[in-house]
Amino acid sequence: MPAPTRSPIQHRRPLGLAARATLFIGAAMLASAAIAAVAMATLSWAVLTLGLAATIALACAMAWRSALPLQAVVAYARKLVREKHVLPLKLRTGGATEELAEALNTLNARLEASTRRAREIAFIDQTTQLPNHHGFQHEIDARLMAPGSTRVALVAVFELRRWAQLAQSQEPSLAQRLLRTLAERFADAVRAAASEAGEGAFLAARLGADEFAACVFAPASPAHGKRFLERVVAALNQPLEWRGHLWSPAARAGGAFAPHHGGDSETLIRRARLAGGAAELAPTRARLFTAALDRETAAKLSLERELRSGIERGEFRAYFQPKLNYHSGKIEACEALARWTRPDQTIVGPGRFIPAAEESGLIGPLADAILRDACWKAAAWARAGRPIKVAVNVSALQFRNEDFAQGVLRTVSGAGLSPHCLELEITESAIMEDPERTARAIAPLRAAGIGLAIDDFGCGHSSLSALSKLPFDVIKIDQQFIRALRRGDGHAGAIIDMILALARTLGMEVVAEGVEETAEADFMAARGCQWGQGFLYGAAVPAREFEALLHRQGINAAA
Ligand code: C2E
Ligand code: CA
Ligand code: CA
Repeated sequence: MPAPTRSPIQHRRPLGLAARATLFIGAAMLASAAIAAVAMATLSWAVLTLGLAATIALACAMAWRSALPLQAVVAYARKLVREKHVLPLKLRTGGATEELAEALNTLNARLEASTRRAREIAFIDQTTQLPNHHGFQHEIDARLMAPGSTRVALVAVFELRRWAQLAQSQEPSLAQRLLRTLAERFADAVRAAASEAGEGAFLAARLGADEFAACVFAPASPAHGKRFLERVVAALNQPLEWRGHLWSPAARAGGAFAPHHGGDSETLIRRARLAGGAAELAPTRARLFTAALDRETAAKLSLERELRSGIERGEFRAYFQPKLNYHSGKIEACEALARWTRPDQTIVGPGRFIPAAEESGLIGPLADAILRDACWKAAAWARAGRPIKVAVNVSALQFRNEDFAQGVLRTVSGAGLSPHCLELEITESAIMEDPERTARAIAPLRAAGIGLAIDDFGCGHSSLSALSKLPFDVIKIDQQFIRALRRGDGHAGAIIDMILALARTLGMEVVAEGVEETAEADFMAARGCQWGQGFLYGAAVPAREFEALLHRQGINAAA
């Protein structure tokens, strides 16, 4: 082990100011005593007194002069204790005092470097080198509260909706590389958009794993602020090439103005986030905070509370909508659709609670409840001699869960249902978010014999090459095409023909959704569509009513 190095101050202890002065005065006294002895013999008392006074004055001056550099060192040390930034002390006296001053300079330099590094770690995001959450807040508060500086600012938060999913599927070093690319793109966009939004200063920061933020001081007007949000979010969402695929972070942005929406960084960030949450529905994916958003949030929180207790009390049930097989003319399948029977017996449709369940993280237990209900009912129908394929919807969020397939398989076997009696409907957009991940996620389900359908086909952006590699069994043509057909839209028929041809090529069956009139059913069946679903055959009904429907069909068939 190397011997510990000793600092110069440890082995040369400089004398104190008082000690050195005492030494010099002592030497002077001795010298004057010697002079006095000689003088007594030879000179008069007057000469003796004069000599003595001169010697003492000389000794005092010498002592004072030698103590001066030491005094400077002591003053420097006091200053180091008191002040944050002190310039190095330059002493050219040689000897221990200069060495002491140099040692203090070195210690000060080291301390300043460590403080700088600690500040960097506390205020700078180490991956992107942008200010982090603390740095961002610190800077905004310092500027907003500085005397004489502007009190007007736009604080913007940009959430990267698809970042977590991508980061989980990549090696950490690759994910960091992509994040740095995104951060550069973001900082460039902020710089360009900020110069257009106002004359003031701006900041770009990374708040958390999937959140960037920006601040524009003294924006020209709220309209300029809004335009800033839209420009930056559009730049962030430009697809970028990543490992052979085009990928976009699906960013959304929210903004809040100081002093109107808050006077400190914490309030402004919170309100910008709130606006960002509501930006999902905005075509530009950008929104500014409004007081109404606070009220909407309160309503949302209360809905969340009710959802939670509704799940606990088992108020969510699957209703079943029939699917007609055009070849046999019989109802041979159905789709399970979630319904919520509130304590006051009102029935709520999924449009009201699925988005809230997704946002609050309650979609997992809610979807489990529907899947369990559908599987148990389907198993009971199969046991009663009426095997029927039940399709269950899967939300994009559920589908992203790594444990998704295993959870479904556990429920199916728990219900004692043959996997061939279950089909999962996954929307085209959820499938195409990451086709490679989709292929991995559905492999165990397919191996078990569970059917797989692409829901709302025609709404998303399917890549034909990805589609041909994904082993789905069914395409469900989105309702809008059947509606367009009903309206007499000339293109609708051509698009439907194209989808049917594509499905035939890929060996998939097609379900027409939203069939309300016989003419539509005839049109679809004549073109080779295998299944029809819609109000023409019945809306979603509780399990008992659906059983009765199957029962009547059985009697009719026998007759
Ligand atoms: P979806 O999967 O496209 O379901 C079809 C929707 O169209 C259902 O609305 C159904 O009632 C409605 N519909 C059926 N036939 C017709 C028709 O002839 N005309 C018209 N105009 N509409 C028809 P619903 O039940 O309100 O469901 C809406 C959406 O909610 C579903 O769309 C699905 O995406 C979602 N959803 C429903 N249940 C669940 C569930 O258990 N889990 C998840 N994740 N999502 C669900
Ligand atoms: Ca569906
Ligand atoms: Ca659908």
